[in-house]
Amino acid sequence: MGATPAMAKKTQIVVVGGGAGGLELVTRLGARFGRRRHDIILVERNRTHIWKPLLHEVAAGSLDANLDEVGYRSHCHRWGYRFFMGALQGIDRAARENHDHKPSMLQDVLARRPTEIDVLNGGIVRAGERAGVPTPLHMTIAALIAGLEAGWSDAQAPSIE
Ligand SMILES: Cc1cc2nc3c(=O)[nH]c(=O)nc-3n(C[C@H](O)[C@H](O)[C@H](O)COP(=O)(O)OP(=O)(O)OC[C@H]3O[C@@H](n4cnc5c(N)ncnc54)[C@H](O)[C@@H]3O)c2cc1C
Repeated sequence: MGATPAMAKKTQIVVVGGGAGGLELVTRLGARFGRRRHDIILVERNRTHIWKPLLHEVAAGSLDANLDEVGYRSHCHRWGYRFFMGALQGIDRAARENHDHKPSMLQDVLARRPTEIDVLNGGIVRAGERAGVPTPLHMTIAALIAGLEAGWSDAQAPSIE
């Protein structure tokens, strides 16, 4: 998106869709934070916004959309955000491809392999004991998974679906 070195230090907030919710959001963010330390970006596939409840009046000819619509380019100058005209496609693709992903520990449990629970959560429990910080949730999770592992026999492991 053509970020300069100065922009790289800013907190970047990207809002996709400049409809009723998105336009209000970038306007408020821009008004609150401005451009100095924030880079607020609106990605919207249309050039202008019109409040949808007015569409039937536009269709009926009682309202001129050109007079009532908000042009993102001028609006963003006024309210301190940047506007990029375009359609986001990456999130849809990611959701399509990754919705069935199984985390590695779930894969281990399904395959009845020893998990990393003792290294991860058990390690936090031990560090907590050394530092005198109670870690009851980690202790419980580690104990539950350790109990699960102990219950697995050497019988044939089920296949991962
Ligand atoms: C004819 C009509 C009449 C209505 N009347 C009323 C009413 O009387 N009262 C009421 O409360 N509500 C009414 N509504 C509903 C109201 O308009 C919606 O609830 C409101 O617009 C939803 O706001 P939103 O920000 O979630 O989505 P929208 O306002 O629909 O905005 C979504 C924006 O995201 C953009 N966008 C979508 N996908 C992408 C993408 N991949 N990349 C980039 N941009 C993208 C779109 O172009 C759009 O500008 C009406 C709706 C219609 C259609």
